[in-house]
This record gives sequence, C-alpha cells and structure tokens, in this order.
Amino acid sequence: MRVLVAGAAGFIGSHLCDSLLADSHTVVGIDNLVSGRRSNLTAALAHPGFIFVERDIATPFSDDDLSALFGDGPFDEVYHLASPASPADFATIPLEILETGSNGTKHMLQLAERHGARLLLASTSEVYGDPLVHPQPESYWGNVDSIGPRSCYDEAKRFAEALTSAYRRHRGVDTVIIRIFNTYGPRMRPDDGRVLTNFITQALSGAPITLYGDGSQTRSFCFVDDEVRGIVAAMRSGAAGPVNLGNPAEVTMREVAELVVQLTGSSSPIVTVPLPTERTGDPARRRPDITLARTLLGWEPTIGLADGLPAMIRDLAAELAVMPAHTEPA
Ligand code: UDP
Repeated sequence: MRVLVAGAAGFIGSHLCDSLLADSHTVVGIDNLVSGRRSNLTAALAHPGFIFVERDIATPFSDDDLSALFGDGPFDEVYHLASPASPADFATIPLEILETGSNGTKHMLQLAERHGARLLLASTSEVYGDPLVHPQPESYWGNVDSIGPRSCYDEAKRFAEALTSAYRRHRGVDTVIIRIFNTYGPRMRPDDGRVLTNFITQALSGAPITLYGDGSQTRSFCFVDDEVRGIVAAMRSGAAGPVNLGNPAEVTMREVAELVVQLTGSSSPIVTVPLPTERTGDPARRRPDITLARTLLGWEPTIGLADGLPAMIRDLAAELAVMPAHTEPA
C-alpha cells in the first residue's frame, strides 16, 4: 500500500513509519519539524520505500503542491499524528497547536477524500480533561476547561474529532478516531518536559527528581511498540471509533519516580515542587478503559512499565552523552 504519515518525525509517528516500512508499504512522511526531529527518521530515511516531505500541514495545499508532493498515485491510508503534544509545548506554541488540530486536520481529511483513502485521526485522552469518570470509557464526554493552559491541545483535538466525524457523515470519508493515552519509549525529546523524560534525564544527571504537587496524581503509561501495534490494528479494522489506545496499568507519579531511581541506579533525591502555573488543570487521575480496543481490535498492551523503561533509559543516556559534543563550538 501507499501510505501517508503526518507527524512522521515525531516520537510515535517515526515508530509508526518504521513499522509500516517493515511491512513493505511505501511511506510518505510529512512533518514541519516543530516538535518532531529528523534524527527520529534515521532508519526510515535509509529505507528505499520512504519519502520525507518537510512541510506544515496547516498551510493550505494548492493543486500544484498536491501533485508535486504526493502525485505518484493515490494513498490507501492517511495516518494523521501531526501535533505537538507535550504540556511544555502548550505553554510555548499554543497557536501552532490550534492551527494543526483545525486547519491541519481539515487538509488531511481533504487529501483522504481526494485519494479515497481511509484516515486515522490520532486524538488523545486529553479530550476527557480532568476526568470525573474513572477509568475513562469512550462514551464519557469529558471535563475540559476550554480556556485554560491545556485548552489549545484539548480543544484542538476535540475540534479535530468533530471535523473528522463530519467528514465521515457528510462527505463519506472512511475514518477512524483513536484516543492515545500517555505513551513512552525511545525517541522522546529529552527536553519535552514530560514526566518520564524529566525523571530519567534528572536521574541520569544526578539532579533532583521533580515531583509536582504531592505526587499522588496518576497516569497509565503505554510502551510505544504496543501503541503502534494498536494504531495499525485500528487502521486495518472497520471501526470508526473513537477507540482508546493505552495501557490500563495505573501508577502514581511518586511510584514512577521511585521506579526510575531504581532502574537507573541513581542517587538523585526525589523532591516535591509546587505544580508549575502552566500546569494548571493537571488531571488528577487517568486510566483508559480499553474494553472497546480489546473487543473491536483484538488489541491490548503486553509491555509493563518496568519492562519498557530500560529501552527509554538507554536511548536518553545515549542522547545525553552525545549532546555536549554537538553543542561545543567548532
Ligand atoms: N510531572 C511531574 N514532574 C515533572 C513532570 C511532570 O510530577 O517533572 C507530572 C505532571 O504534573 C502530571 C504527570 O507527571 O501529573 C504527567 O505529566 P506529563 O507531562 O508527562 O503528561 P500529561 O500531563 O500530559 O499526562
């Protein structure tokens, strides 16, 4: 098949490209490299079946653009994973996030319509906001602050879900919506501000591990290989979604900090610090109900946090070790 991956240079997008290439598909990856990194695509770029297009999906595509960029025959599948997704990004590039979720999603849906392709929208557990129902089933409508610091992402994704549903209903585009819960693994940016990248980089450098608030808040972490398997299963199913894709094993942030200290053998102290102001609205609990994914897709995660973390720790250790060489003046 000929497949388009939007957000190809991102953490999950790049792993998805590798998986699709391993299955012998031709993959066109598009990314504006705002939060994605070309280095994530080292393996893909060496593959003859991969083409990379550096471009912002929120900018309109003219007919000439479309044929120049994507002209060689139709796409069968469009995976739309393009969006910065870290709370650190919400504070610095909220306008870009809103543009990507709205205009970017519209452009991907138009492309899918034109090509007769099935489109997968990567939505998020953030559509549930700070949930009042636990664990979160897809039928829960959420508890979202529409003007707070996280709203640029939460509402962009909610709009993207609405737009995708309207294209499905009114334009006959074949679509599936997945809701991705916290995912981790190699290729996350060391500076992305997320909890596992923060804790691991702090542990590896001997810096204090910064537990926000009292550390009792929970998340449920899915290893990226499991997540990518779920994404492909959703695309290949007939499901319209939304379908939650995440690991239902729920942990407190304090437990995560202790696990990271143990796995890295670090002597870093675990310290509590006030929740940063840009983190206002930090969800207190999050755990996916994956009954639908199990029944519709025959999918469930198989890799626990303690088993998946060593690969991420090795990846960040390797990256941090090479960083000084890159930043030294020539
Ligand atoms: N967190 C923390 N210390 C950090 C970074 C994050 O305690 O250095 C907490 C944060 O307050 C949140 C959880 O870890 O409750 C997960 O944060 P992350 O940014 O990874 O993802 P999200 O909030 O989007 O689920």
